[in-house]
Amino acid sequence: MVNTLVIALDKLRTEEPNEDLKFRPSAKWPINTDKVRQALKNAGFTGKVVARCDVPNEYSAAIYRWAENLQGLPALVVYPETEEQISITVKFAVENKFTISIRCGGHNGAPMVSETILVDMRHSNAVKVDKETRQLTFGGGCNWGEVYEVANPAGLEAVGGGYWGVGVGGWSTGGGYSWLSGKYGMGCDNILAVRMCLADGSIVTASETENPDLFWSIRGGHGQLGIITEFTTQAYLNGGPALVGMLGYRPDQLSQVLDMLNDRFFPVRTAQESLVLGFVRPPPHYQPVVAIMPWIQGDDAYIAKIKSIFTDTVKPMVDRTYIAHDQVQVAHGADGMFAVPGAKRKVDGLTTIGDLWPEMALEAWQKWEEYTSNVPDCRGSVVLFECHSRDKMASKPSDATAWGARDPHYYAVCTGTSMTTATDQYAEAFALETAELIGAHHLAKAGKPARQWGLGRMNPDTQEFTYSYATNRDRLKQLKEEYDPLGVFQSPLGQQTHTTLLAKSGKRD
Ligand SMILES: Cc1cc2nc3c(=O)[nH]c(=O)nc-3n(C[C@H](O)[C@H](O)[C@H](O)COP(=O)(O)OP(=O)(O)OC[C@H]3O[C@@H](n4cnc5c(N)ncnc54)[C@H](O)[C@@H]3O)c2cc1C
Repeated sequence: MVNTLVIALDKLRTEEPNEDLKFRPSAKWPINTDKVRQALKNAGFTGKVVARCDVPNEYSAAIYRWAENLQGLPALVVYPETEEQISITVKFAVENKFTISIRCGGHNGAPMVSETILVDMRHSNAVKVDKETRQLTFGGGCNWGEVYEVANPAGLEAVGGGYWGVGVGGWSTGGGYSWLSGKYGMGCDNILAVRMCLADGSIVTASETENPDLFWSIRGGHGQLGIITEFTTQAYLNGGPALVGMLGYRPDQLSQVLDMLNDRFFPVRTAQESLVLGFVRPPPHYQPVVAIMPWIQGDDAYIAKIKSIFTDTVKPMVDRTYIAHDQVQVAHGADGMFAVPGAKRKVDGLTTIGDLWPEMALEAWQKWEEYTSNVPDCRGSVVLFECHSRDKMASKPSDATAWGARDPHYYAVCTGTSMTTATDQYAEAFALETAELIGAHHLAKAGKPARQWGLGRMNPDTQEFTYSYATNRDRLKQLKEEYDPLGVFQSPLGQQTHTTLLAKSGKRD
């Protein structure tokens, strides 16, 4: 298979681009995107296509992202409805030297460059359940809410995202931390097979036995070798109701909360329970709050026993916890938090940490509290310490999948948000500096650097991610060269894409 592909790509490399297609600069845009759209239709694409020349109507809706600053300006946004249409799009992109970026849930950034075709996968959202084998098969454009809505009534739960709107594509190929990770490992560890469209337009299956290199790469290495049209994953019998929501404490209780977690919760914690410790300013008053967002799965007595750890010695000022009966309800639990008005420009600094060290958390609080009071425009910024039970996620060797962060860890998410471009620089500095501060504590305590990532989300087409591939980075780079030597698919490895290579060689415009 690989040889056939390499030969096909060699052939493409030596052929001149189709001279009939002259997407020359127009007065308004660098390329004539209406002409590109027509050419794609002529190539057999029958789905909806939105072109940049459609500004400001449909186009602004088509490029909509989770955060405004992550929106790119692709030439076309295409909405394939079948694998065949995906394949036609990829072949067209190769022939006409466009870079492809992929949208599933739309939580990450799209390339800012103009010669990109954004493949919006939203129509690939069918979900099938095999109760016998407890396997789920779902389209590469689903969000996790769509998967839970079919799996849960069938008595199954999936190792998926904590928030319903997160896309299965970016989440699973990026590793995937789940409330269920303590029990069943990372999301990517539960992928059994995928169908994907490669750079020559062919559709292949990747699993342990078929195209194992591809299978290795999509488990944590992102979707940079092709478009995943369908996932098959292992699901599990529904583990029962879970306590979720939020317990809010006063800032002066932070030390006690940290002691309570380290002395009483972590020592008894099993894979049945997890939590996120957050520093947040909830609307409408935006006062600083120490928040514990618990996830405790079990019967009433078990839930009450574990919850009492959070309430008996340190009294929360608010208790907004509730019992969620399935994953659909769990995944909607944070709707309020994610709907902070106006906070639509975001940048993340993420870092792994060996433990929830009190002095680390106290310093991070101080920085966050000062920053969010001094820059009101950025008060939606948060620090989250995500503390899932670590052992199962660390149970694979670090080269078993492209996801290489297999040392037992929690992780910290430092999200800088701003409401206007004027304060973007502060949000970015906050995310970067807070992640570095936390990472420095990890280095001092654990004696080795933390794995940090996500800081390049402002512009994924030009910035290299120092992602959590660990020692797998070189193998991923080799596979990228092998399967996508022309850089058709956007890559977080800092490799040049089709478009940037062309711009440098002067072959386009
Ligand atoms: C509110 C919120 C909650 C989150 N919660 C969690 C969490 O609980 N656990 C966790 O681990 N992470 C979480 N994240 C991070 C999230 O997993 C990443 O941002 C992820 O990349 C989002 O995937 P997406 O499909 O929504 O994004 P998109 O921007 O649509 O996709 C991101 C990238 O994924 C790749 N990709 C997507 N679909 C495909 C496909 N079909 N084929 C090939 N490649 C594809 C592409 O490279 C694409 O550029 C959260 C993020 C947010 C904003």
